[in-house]
Amino acid sequence: EASGPAERSDPAVRVEDLRVEYGSTTALDGVDVTVEEGEFFTLVGPSGCGKTTTLRCLAGFEEPTAGSIHIAGESMAGVPPESRGIGVVFQSYALFPHMSVGENVAYGLRFSGPPEGTTKHERVEELLELVDLPGFADRDPDTLSGGQQQRVALARALAPEPRLLLLDEPMSALDARLRERLRVQVREIQRELGITTVYVTHDQEEALSVSDRVAVVDGGRIEQVGRPRELYDAPATRFVAEFLGDNNVFAGSVVAGGDRVRDAAAARDDGGDPLRLRVDGGGTLPLPSDVAEDARDGDRLVVCVRPERIRVHASGDGDREGERAGDRVGGNGGTGRGTGADPDGALLATTVESTEFLGDATRLHCDWNGVAVTVRTDGSRSFDVGEPVTLGVDRADVRVVERS
Ligand code: ATP
Repeated sequence: EASGPAERSDPAVRVEDLRVEYGSTTALDGVDVTVEEGEFFTLVGPSGCGKTTTLRCLAGFEEPTAGSIHIAGESMAGVPPESRGIGVVFQSYALFPHMSVGENVAYGLRFSGPPEGTTKHERVEELLELVDLPGFADRDPDTLSGGQQQRVALARALAPEPRLLLLDEPMSALDARLRERLRVQVREIQRELGITTVYVTHDQEEALSVSDRVAVVDGGRIEQVGRPRELYDAPATRFVAEFLGDNNVFAGSVVAGGDRVRDAAAARDDGGDPLRLRVDGGGTLPLPSDVAEDARDGDRLVVCVRPERIRVHASGDGDREGERAGDRVGGNGGTGRGTGADPDGALLATTVESTEFLGDATRLHCDWNGVAVTVRTDGSRSFDVGEPVTLGVDRADVRVVERS
């Protein structure tokens, strides 16, 4: 089905069971990825996880040990890089220093020539316009800033109207502020052209901020694929939970109903107390109702709770948590969470161990009977080191990421 002419239903890219071995090193251990037409798709993962190798296989610079790659339904087996209709931008600028900016962009047209109805000169001007460098054609690359050089490299990659754009950490040599600006520009250009793009980065924030969908890669395998919010809110594995932003990860055993240990299934059938997790070395956390389905007393689970989902208020003022909205610092930055605390939620008695002022927020590192809990508050109230605080955790914010 896959190697005939492109059909409407063919995804822009389909990678199946891709394997790459270098001697005894397995760089890719069976990667499956589908990228839809016009998507901005990102591969994110730690150094050495196989992101670049995947991209090199797509580009045709690397021959996979096994597996297949189809672009618009067409098998790429034996197809050389220049015949794949792909534009690539690498980490290093890789502009030719002895050529002008315009000549560098024109170099991108060496195989294809300018699109029909335009001259090479017009095409170069059009592309420099697109990357917001009009009038730069005669400049030397070394008179340009790093961000500008990367935009020239992008113009050169886009010159022959590729059907697929591959970006390998194109911002990593730039400072933080420039990187943020460039990624917004790249995303705007990508949208304007509607070009299918596969982007590689080790920076989780970058991945979440620019992508339609993200694949989290670890050890030559894809851990999870999803929209940024899905991955952030509902990580499927512990690795994804910890790699994408701050997270509290707790391991423990299932118990039914707070401190009373009884049969979990019976508790559920009674419509009684919700299941809880007795965290190793600490207290208990409530489990979300969907987990209760097949959980049994004593099951081992690993759960996570995002620091910004935990509410914090001063202990010892005698209030029941949730009754005074003024105490409800933290929360989720005003995205519409109600003020009523989950009646089945948990109240954790902790002590502030250290604080980090982040400008728009404060991070508190708390001690919960010897278990570390990180909380992100909105910074409207400051907390002192050594201060006892009560943390509120809703059941719905407890996410199971491992079962055994
Ligand atoms: P980074 O973010 O550091 O670039 P990456 O996720 O892109 O990392 P890859 O460059 O794809 O990782 O490398 C995956 C694995 O394959 C690594 O363990 C790497 O050392 C190994 N590897 C890559 N290229 C080669 C090669 N030519 N010969 C031997 N091993 C290689």
